[in-house]
Amino acid sequence: MPLTHRHLLQIEGLHPPEIDTMLDLAESYALLNRSGKTQRDLLRGRTLINLFFEDSTRTRTSFELAGKRLGADVINMSVSTSSVNKGETLLDTAATLNAMNCDLLVVRHGDSGAPALLARKVDAAVINAGDGMHEHPTQALLDALTIRRRRGRLEGLTVAICGDVLHSRVARSNIFLLSAMGSRVRVIGPPTLMPTEIERLGVEVFHDMREGLRDCDIVMMLRLQKERMTRGLIPSFREFFRFYGLDAEKLACAKPDALVMHPGPMNRGVEIASDVADDPVRSLIKEQVEMGVAVRMAVLDILARRSSRND
Ligand code: ASP
Repeated sequence: MPLTHRHLLQIEGLHPPEIDTMLDLAESYALLNRSGKTQRDLLRGRTLINLFFEDSTRTRTSFELAGKRLGADVINMSVSTSSVNKGETLLDTAATLNAMNCDLLVVRHGDSGAPALLARKVDAAVINAGDGMHEHPTQALLDALTIRRRRGRLEGLTVAICGDVLHSRVARSNIFLLSAMGSRVRVIGPPTLMPTEIERLGVEVFHDMREGLRDCDIVMMLRLQKERMTRGLIPSFREFFRFYGLDAEKLACAKPDALVMHPGPMNRGVEIASDVADDPVRSLIKEQVEMGVAVRMAVLDILARRSSRND
């Protein structure tokens, strides 16, 4: 089923067949990437702009690589070098991008809803690369692809999302995607890092890590988003690790073959112990990065085809 939207702004509201379409295409790009072949013609003559108002390593570079592998002209604009620092508003930026005939615009912004606002003002197809505490749709897609490749399915799996759920756009996008695809989602974290009424998203809430991890297939750790904490929400990193950090002993509460994930960047010894993060059998963290490129190629491919049909 083709994606019916012009932009990819959020996972919420996407239908399972749309998600499957993206994951199936991403799977074929994952195989192509592993074979060392590239597909350089698909986006030839198209311009992709990476517009990042917040720091990023993995997401920006993987969109850049994905665009280049498909043959697009890729331009990276970061806030420190653009006129945004000189007081240009988001809408002025949109007008500038329109004048440049940008086809695909990848946006990361600290404010929830900023990519959606730009999508109303630019001619390009907009991809949300993370907006505030709202969503990070390509992260959820790459997480789903990584799980599906290892477990063969998403349906019926129990996935625990652990840590700073309150500030995490990764958690929100994953909750929407995994629930839509039939996984059972649990969230685990201290009450101070849990959004109020999170149960309304259909998840089970735990404040005890060992209890919450029982019988889980997948343990997804989150980064503590210190930059979004305006007050002391945890007593100390040491205490957080003691109760909520993933170490071998807590992981033993999950299924014996449970797999471990983290979107990065990791705070080792705070959210996750190094021996767990680097475990070659249980940890999927490196594979998540690899699948990030494949997923972004699939998303660029689908949105570029859609926009060319509308030309
Ligand atoms: N890289 C992810 C994001 O941009 C996760 C994180 O920063 O903690 O949301």
